[in-house]
Amino acid sequence: MKKLILTAVAVCAGTFAHAEEKKVEISGNDQMQFDVKAIEVTEGDKVTLILKHTGKLPKVAMGHNVVILKPGTDIAAFATKAMQAAATEYLPADEETKEKIFAHTKLVGGGEEDTITFTAGEPGAYTYICTFPGHFALMQGVLTVKAK
Ligand code: ZN
Repeated sequence: MKKLILTAVAVCAGTFAHAEEKKVEISGNDQMQFDVKAIEVTEGDKVTLILKHTGKLPKVAMGHNVVILKPGTDIAAFATKAMQAAATEYLPADEETKEKIFAHTKLVGGGEEDTITFTAGEPGAYTYICTFPGHFALMQGVLTVKAK
């Protein structure tokens, strides 16, 4: 009997949940800067994130990505692992480090862009960085997920 009640509640919650669609655009330039350093969304929002590289330098010299890390990630330790992962465009390939990634774009060069979509997860502060070697100290921001 208990099980039946729980099921009914879950169905209702699903019906009344209004997932909002949010669009966020972040630019990265040849000066190693993101133009957006704070993003706020609500738990459950469907987020479209567009990364635009507004510079002219190629990917090998000034590559940018947006890697959103789960709350509580040691950013410096993650970035150190990431910069060694040249073969996978600076996305750590080992399972333990990969676990820390909530979502990510691909690496783009001047004039390129990439779009990703994700559903905002558990409330918290998600730091996002560019994992190209040497960039994360300047190129980072925080995606705040508010509770519903
Ligand atoms: Zn970068």
